[in-house]
Amino acid sequence: MKEKNTTIANHPAGPPLTELHSHLGGAVDAAILWTLAHEQGIKLPTKDYWEFEQMITIKEKGKMHSVKELSHNYYAWTELIQSSPLAIEPAVHGTIGGAYRANNIVVHELRFNPMKRNRGGERDLDYIILAAIRGMENALFEYPLVRAGLILMLDREYPKKLNTIIFEKAKKYQHRGIVGIDLAGPQSHTFHIEEYDSLFQEAKELGFGVTVHTGEEGSVKEMQYIVERVAPHRIGHGFLAWQDTGLMRMVAEQNITLELCPTSNLNVGVIKSVEEMRRIFRTLLEHHVRLTINTDGPEMHGTNLKQEYELLHKHKIFTASELTQCRENGFEASFIR
Ligand SMILES: [Zn+2]
Repeated sequence: MKEKNTTIANHPAGPPLTELHSHLGGAVDAAILWTLAHEQGIKLPTKDYWEFEQMITIKEKGKMHSVKELSHNYYAWTELIQSSPLAIEPAVHGTIGGAYRANNIVVHELRFNPMKRNRGGERDLDYIILAAIRGMENALFEYPLVRAGLILMLDREYPKKLNTIIFEKAKKYQHRGIVGIDLAGPQSHTFHIEEYDSLFQEAKELGFGVTVHTGEEGSVKEMQYIVERVAPHRIGHGFLAWQDTGLMRMVAEQNITLELCPTSNLNVGVIKSVEEMRRIFRTLLEHHVRLTINTDGPEMHGTNLKQEYELLHKHKIFTASELTQCRENGFEASFIR
């Protein structure tokens, strides 16, 4: 996708950016979630706002042990609070609007698993998805320079039946701005990626963007399979490919874009230090892998997109012109047409 000519010289929020990898569960300000929880009468384990803020914001890098811990401890709360039409509409609306005002994010893809927001089937799934779409449309009405789209997430911890229902909903609302399909969640012994070949194939044929969380922790084996068999348009993280020259070559040749999320990787501890990050990210770049910079969910990770670019520049991980290339890659790789 070509960058729209909307650049204003010395824009107060900086150059136009794309956010391609942000989880709604990690993108909403703690104060807004606090209010939404109270509006819905959700019983929280604390009455103190600052304790709550600690519960849903990662404060110390590398203290976590796995993606599973992130999913089960932090996301569990934000997803519960976002589990109603009342909550999800302002959450999407505020996230897209806020990202434009503060970071000049003009192409914004926001992802969520609708089934983690319907209280185990108590709420109507369609209604939740429509509320998210309304929130997005409100933001686009207010900020006409922004383009946005929603990505529905499948989960490795879900049986195929539930993931298939999510895909059916994506198809149903594709014309309303569901632009892509993602697969996320920690590794699970009940999950078999081979069972999803035809689902991803169909998604691509229908014009969805396909992205998959892989190559973030564990071995490169699953990522290898995903690159060869699923051939997604993009991969969430995927940095583990740096260990395998052949895999990097394949990713580059297939023009698969990696959605890098630097602070998230340090927070979750899947990359141990900025030095290690420099070695990994530079190896990917030197092997011509197409890279983009994203947050993974700015509020939960205590960052924002501009800070992510600054972090990579400050620690000499990428040069200014390499970062410009990453920025342009974001426009090219967006699922929003
Ligand atoms: Zn993610």
